[in-house]
Amino acid sequence: MQALSSVFETPVETLAASGAQCLVIGSGTAGVTAAIELAARGLRVAIVEAGPFVMAEHIGSGPFAAQHAMVPRIHDLVRKRTLWTDTAHADAARAGTMEPNNNAWEAVGGRTLFWGGCTPRFLDSDFADWPCDAAAFRPWYARAEALISASGGDQQGQDVPHFIDDTGPLIRKLGDHGIAATYPPLGIDTRAVRNGRMSRGFDSSIARLLRCPQFGRMADGAQLTLTAECAVLDLQMQDGAVRGVRVRDRRSGAMHDIAAQEVILAGGAVQSTRLALAAGLDRVDPLVGRYVGDHLFVQAVLKMPEALNRQAVYAFIPPLPERPFHVQMQGMFGDVWYSPLDATMWLDGQPDGDTLLYYCFGISHATRESRVALTGGAGDPLREYVVIADRTPEDLATLEAMEAFTHRVGAALSARVARVERHPAGAALHEFGGLRMGRDAAASVTDPFGAFHRIAHLTCVDSAIWPSQGSANSYLTITATALRNAEALAARLGFGAVLS
Ligand SMILES: Cc1cc2nc3c(=O)[nH]c(=O)nc-3n(C[C@H](O)[C@H](O)[C@H](O)COP(=O)(O)OP(=O)(O)OC[C@H]3O[C@@H](n4cnc5c(N)ncnc54)[C@H](O)[C@@H]3O)c2cc1C
Repeated sequence: MQALSSVFETPVETLAASGAQCLVIGSGTAGVTAAIELAARGLRVAIVEAGPFVMAEHIGSGPFAAQHAMVPRIHDLVRKRTLWTDTAHADAARAGTMEPNNNAWEAVGGRTLFWGGCTPRFLDSDFADWPCDAAAFRPWYARAEALISASGGDQQGQDVPHFIDDTGPLIRKLGDHGIAATYPPLGIDTRAVRNGRMSRGFDSSIARLLRCPQFGRMADGAQLTLTAECAVLDLQMQDGAVRGVRVRDRRSGAMHDIAAQEVILAGGAVQSTRLALAAGLDRVDPLVGRYVGDHLFVQAVLKMPEALNRQAVYAFIPPLPERPFHVQMQGMFGDVWYSPLDATMWLDGQPDGDTLLYYCFGISHATRESRVALTGGAGDPLREYVVIADRTPEDLATLEAMEAFTHRVGAALSARVARVERHPAGAALHEFGGLRMGRDAAASVTDPFGAFHRIAHLTCVDSAIWPSQGSANSYLTITATALRNAEALAARLGFGAVLS
């Protein structure tokens, strides 16, 4: 019997023989969002993904969510170890003498198989150093929220209720102490199941791709295709333009050259940047690989004086322009500590538990020295890099404020802060930068729509192009970025107008 993926996958040999009009590297939310948008506008699109097909939806939308011992093992099928460090340890990291301390996921669907679902927007003030302002970005936020069937939050209509609605007493208690809290916006479909309509659960790019009418096998004439387990190792350049990519088929080990009219980077900020470095683009533009960052991340456990006797609670304390961080609080639990390998644990709270899990994400400042650097020796080119990112004095002050705020929230809830920890850079898994966008080609790698200033036919659609990020978790803004950049690319190629 053949694998399920044979029903929809296009073999790399078929893709190499025909070439691609638009070749998208990566099948996470950035890649699939851009690919579907390009296909919907009439372009022929091929997605190439390094990882294997493991699931057709997010892990929390299906029965595996109940299998707590199996979930980490599913992660392990597609999880790769990576290294983030600081300048003081950069030489050791590049020499290969440091152990990996972080994770990356390589799978059809990328991190959308496992992500936690929280989808706030950036504040208007977060766009201050972006080449488009908040008002200009808003239409893409609205479209991205509709695309991922987001629920809750301030922007949503009445037909998409909150996913967790038992949080009122917690929100009121925080409000009594001057801390404005709300229900979290989540990328989870809460529209009613009725008249033949099923809920879509957590957003996942693989589920979106499988639902797409243009998607199928190239041999069957499909306009939008997927080739999995193929790692793009190099970009083929000629006369200042990208003409195609070189890939390694991970099943056979064979190398293939694939001609492409347009190449779209969507490997996630670190991998899109790593590929640009591996292709030598830093020789064309020394800013390639620079200004990389990740959220500041403080995690805590709050012990309430007694159980809340609620099914589940999930409160969101939004950032303010003068408070550059936000808080997500989930419970109730007996005892719990965040593990990215069990991202759905919050679905299984214990109503009689007395513990709230507390995450606080803050804005970090990426400097020119914060960068992706290539290393050697891992045996897998996609792993041969280190991210070097230092905390700035401003970051350290924000971390202090984040920790102090944790105690203020604890006091407001009459809770004991049983444990509080500052995670190192990279741990938030919300990385950005490396191919920063801007209007001024002397100060940026890509233009305001992710097209490279100095290399033709190459566009990036993920958070590698962000010059900075708000405190908001990145998924929604990546999805909106991908929509926006894909639409601009299609318009440039003569396939439809730009929305605004
Ligand atoms: C456990 C967990 C919980 C999270 N929770 C949240 C949350 O609650 N809210 C939120 O906003 N964000 C959350 N995130 C972060 C969020 O999932 C990511 O920011 C977002 O999904 C990144 O999307 P992406 O498409 O840019 O990259 P990815 O999802 O990483 O997809 C990139 C894909 O490209 C492939 N690829 C890379 N390089 C190549 C190459 N050279 N050749 C071929 N393929 C390549 C990779 O294999 C990968 O599958 C979470 C992440 C994790 C892991």
